[in-house]
Amino acid sequence: MRIAQLLKSTDYGTKVTVKGWVRTKRGNKNVAFLALNDGSCVANIQIVADLAKISEEELKPVTTGACVAVEGTLVESLGAGQGVEVQAETIEVYGTADPATYPLQKKGHSLEFLREIAYLRPRTNTFGAILRIRHAMAYAIHKFFNDKGFYYLHTPLITASDCEGAGEMFQVTTLDLDNMPRTEEGAIDFAQDFFGKPCSLTVSGQLEGELGALSMGQIYTFGPTFRAEHSNTPRHLAEFWMIEPEVAFFDLKDNMDMAEEFLKYLIRYALENCREDLEFMNKMWDNELLDRLNFVLENDFVRLDYTEGIEILKASGKKFEFPCEWGSDLQSEHERYLVEEHFKKPVILINYPKDIKAFYMKQNEDGKTVRAMDVLFPKIGEIIGGSEREADYGKLSARIKELGIPEKDMWWYLDTRRWGSAPHSGFGLGFERLLLFVTGMSNIRDVIPFPRTLKNAEF
Ligand code: ATP
Ligand code: MN
Repeated sequence: MRIAQLLKSTDYGTKVTVKGWVRTKRGNKNVAFLALNDGSCVANIQIVADLAKISEEELKPVTTGACVAVEGTLVESLGAGQGVEVQAETIEVYGTADPATYPLQKKGHSLEFLREIAYLRPRTNTFGAILRIRHAMAYAIHKFFNDKGFYYLHTPLITASDCEGAGEMFQVTTLDLDNMPRTEEGAIDFAQDFFGKPCSLTVSGQLEGELGALSMGQIYTFGPTFRAEHSNTPRHLAEFWMIEPEVAFFDLKDNMDMAEEFLKYLIRYALENCREDLEFMNKMWDNELLDRLNFVLENDFVRLDYTEGIEILKASGKKFEFPCEWGSDLQSEHERYLVEEHFKKPVILINYPKDIKAFYMKQNEDGKTVRAMDVLFPKIGEIIGGSEREADYGKLSARIKELGIPEKDMWWYLDTRRWGSAPHSGFGLGFERLLLFVTGMSNIRDVIPFPRTLKNAEF
């Protein structure tokens, strides 16, 4: 039985077997107390070993970090705050952990230190809690969409279109880097590469997601995404997970409604299903976490034009590190000013200048802006980026030409606007940005088991 279940049991007197890792051992010459954890919850179960039954010699290898199986009797605990404990009859040691070398000896290691031993950090309370919340959120995402009749579409991770994240993409090749085949002109001959042309890891599943929406009506993707982010920030990973719903017949307003409903659903799910872990995070790392989660649930998101947002920022009198003029992309500091200081609520910023947004966004009548939307959250900044898509063949192909995107890469995408085009919208939610918000952590490296960032691909 898992410790989470055992701790709720009231079957006093029954024989039980528990298996897990020793967090601490203390005691005296008559009795030893072990705190055992198996990853199923924050709480440990207390194992009481009577030294008359289990010799000191046997208990010697049972140190912090060791893995053991305990057989014994479940009894009501007299200690405060714990319902049950196990009176051990036998203790079998599966694996010892030499105290001279095992790194997780004391409580309260720094997050920086734990990042260096990311392969062991799931054995700590903090990372146990984060990874359980991560699991619950992944499940809730599938549940949300499934209950609404969306289909989970698997979009490719290897792609030949480089239209979106030029410069940010990781190339995929099987060519010999020390001996590249060359064309007569001296260029690299990708015809000899595995796929017969240059390929990369995807920066987004959206373009293929749109094909799904324009056939199955409402789809979502949920998969890994790769961006060669050269700036080291606490909000960017080189490998992250993204959720991208795409819906036929949705306009920008429908898209905003879906984003708001989706985020609130996930936060409510966490509050209802991850209570202990959230309370732990609130106590240990961020005393305002639970308040912030409830606050987002209780308030409508502000919906605001980019142009108005710029005016508010300019009128704020605040000295920002980066300038903000109409036409410039908002930096995290600007986003957070609007959310945390001005409105004190999540903000959905819409109708951005077309030159700072992607080619596929629906053009507004003003000729200057597109129907983009970014959802901005406290502590995070941008958590969602999305838009209504340009459904008009003429406008879309003109924009593609204008930006010099090779049509040979885009013909299949344009074809959807040639045959049976439809208004449609969608967005991308960064899974780890969501987890930053839900766990209260402040560095994105701490909400994914094995972070990949510039100069770091350990474990
Ligand atoms: P940012 O301006 O923060 O770099 P972006 O504009 O590049 O974000 P989009 O291309 O709109 O982001 O991607 C959709 C969502 O994916 C973002 O809203 C964010 O939640 C998430 N995201 C983007 N880049 C990263 C990254 N490098 N690491 C983790 N999440 C990311
Ligand atoms: Mn980015």
